[in-house]
Amino acid sequence: MKKNLLLSILLVSTYSFSQTDQRIYDIIDAVSAERIEKDITTLANFGTRHTLSDTVSNTRGIGAARRWIKSEFDKISTDCDNCLDVSFQRDLVEKGRNNRIVKDVYIVNVVAIQKGTKYPNRYIIMSGDIDSRVSDPTNFTDDSPGANDNASGMAGTIEAARVLSKYKFESSIIYLGLSGEEQGLFGGQGLVKQMKANGWEITGIFNNDMIGNITGVDGVISNRDFRIFSEPVPATETEKQRKARRFYGGEVDGVSRQLARYVDKTTKTYMPEMNPMMIYRLDRFGRGGHHRPFNDAGYAGIRIMEAHENYTQQHQDIRTENGINYGDVLEHVNFDYAKKLTAVNAINMASLAWAPAAPEKVEIGGIVEPSAKFKWTKVDDAVGYKIYWRDTTSPTWDNSRFVGDVSEYTLDGIVIDNFFFGVSAVGKDGFESPVVFPNAVFR
Ligand SMILES: [Zn+2]
Repeated sequence: MKKNLLLSILLVSTYSFSQTDQRIYDIIDAVSAERIEKDITTLANFGTRHTLSDTVSNTRGIGAARRWIKSEFDKISTDCDNCLDVSFQRDLVEKGRNNRIVKDVYIVNVVAIQKGTKYPNRYIIMSGDIDSRVSDPTNFTDDSPGANDNASGMAGTIEAARVLSKYKFESSIIYLGLSGEEQGLFGGQGLVKQMKANGWEITGIFNNDMIGNITGVDGVISNRDFRIFSEPVPATETEKQRKARRFYGGEVDGVSRQLARYVDKTTKTYMPEMNPMMIYRLDRFGRGGHHRPFNDAGYAGIRIMEAHENYTQQHQDIRTENGINYGDVLEHVNFDYAKKLTAVNAINMASLAWAPAAPEKVEIGGIVEPSAKFKWTKVDDAVGYKIYWRDTTSPTWDNSRFVGDVSEYTLDGIVIDNFFFGVSAVGKDGFESPVVFPNAVFR
């Protein structure tokens, strides 16, 4: 009896007073700009990592690059008592699939999985790209260092594995090197097929593509700003769901958008010096990235990247023209900035991997009533649930209330018409699932 009382007091105090977790600060501090610099340099020095480049040499081409990436993950695994399952995942893409596939090629991804202790089939993914390109997307022989695009994202992913492999998580984390990005997002497509076939439960993917440039072509220099791209609603939504949105809302509340808000919030909590910019679109205007194949399959996925791009340093032959130095070379990469964005990924993956799953079904009611009502399905390991609400024009979940370990709740005096609402699950250490926008209505 006494013990229970003490436990309750401890639990209550945890929820009431502890807003942060020291382990998250430790993770931020453990990310190393020096190691990221070393890895970006190694990747750039493979000459070219074009998807169609040499695979036999051990010093030049994408074959050498992916074998080196795998060996790094293997080393990390050795240091954590074999906590990573490291493998190649490959798919044949035949000549002519599109005009950038000028010969048959095996698209080979490197996959390192840190299995969750309790929910091994639930995955959080961080990805970077292995491949690079110059001006002509079919030129697979010329020097193409791809230092920022996308050795930065790849190096950040390897570094996150070094840091997070020192911890145990209930959910699985995948550190992913994808190939074939510049040729048409082939690496992601191949892996998604395998994930679907294996019934993996995907919490979300953080695709990192260009996380190292702070000097924008627009003249802005900032080592604080970064962007989180997310599509508004899943590409797989049904006609019925689309029609329901007209009456119940949700135009800016799909699963990827909730993941973006999660990253925005975690970053502002633990790295307040950073300035995350949520961009309400799938990707840059008319351009692509490797989160898209995951979004195409209905998985939550976002793109994390620098805020101020420099187009003279992407997809360019290395040259000097009219006094401008073109090319994606090492000199343009800011390693401290890449470290910060790597930390943003690492703390969000840790938070999600320590959190319970999100409630599957969240119902909302309260039509023509003074109070909004909620019902949801409980999840394992949640010690309680949090109801969020915000003004309909606000991008962030500005109001919240922890309501304990219940499966329904009424928000007294909060009128359903005037806000958007959501529910998250909270675990014993205070880590939360992404917010779930109501997916059913009751009367
Ligand atoms: Zn690119």
